[in-house]
Amino acid sequence: LYVEADLAEGVDVPALPGQGHYLGQVMRKGEGDSVHLFNGRDGEWRARIGAIRKDRATLVPEEQLRPQAATPDIRLLLAPLKRDAMEWVVEKATELGVASIHPVLTTRGVVGRINHERLSTIAREAAEQCERLDLPAIAPAQDLHAALDAWDGTPLFLGHERGKAPSLASLLPGRAPPLGILVGPEGGFTKPELDAMGRRHFVSSAALGPRILRAETAAVAGLAVLQALAGD
Ligand code: SAM
Repeated sequence: LYVEADLAEGVDVPALPGQGHYLGQVMRKGEGDSVHLFNGRDGEWRARIGAIRKDRATLVPEEQLRPQAATPDIRLLLAPLKRDAMEWVVEKATELGVASIHPVLTTRGVVGRINHERLSTIAREAAEQCERLDLPAIAPAQDLHAALDAWDGTPLFLGHERGKAPSLASLLPGRAPPLGILVGPEGGFTKPELDAMGRRHFVSSAALGPRILRAETAAVAGLAVLQALAGD
């Protein structure tokens, strides 16, 4: 379970809203039962449920099971997708260990905003399910050019379909995080967008095979390649 409070032996920790119900009604746990906790800073802890009442629970950390390990800084930039596809990408990207997700607004994107709260909940649940010990950061949606203006120079692979880009896998030997992958909307990037990205020294075009992938497939496939070849 993800909690926000610091974790230290014997110090009571409040569960987040909804977790009392989840523990009591869904997991059928009660006072004295064990749960595992993480907060993104203090590793994983075994805790005892101290009290549980409706939606509220108090958890008592007893033993650290795993220390916190650094998450490789692998980032996903993508044009926001329709709700179900976006939620799917956030879940799978979290499982694949993405460090941060940056929604970028593009000319042909059909979705102009994200539901940050909902996506954060999905990321938290995915982190709990896959037993990672931190949550990916989800940035606010931002114009593509503004995002690139503010970019810190981390190498960014632009998912490029139909072109003659080298494969992402062939570009990775010798590289280590921080690294990012940038995926366009269903309608693809416009020529001016591609030209503008081509002028950024940190952007390189990369292919994920000869087929045209749906944006959500490209996002997940790109992260899988980055994780396999440059992650942990
Ligand atoms: N409408 C575009 C077209 O017909 O050429 C296709 C866009 S594709 C559905 C959405 C995004 O996924 C693209 O902007 C690109 O970033 C990524 N993508 C799709 N297939 C890819 C591939 N084979 N290699 C790398 N990126 C790919």
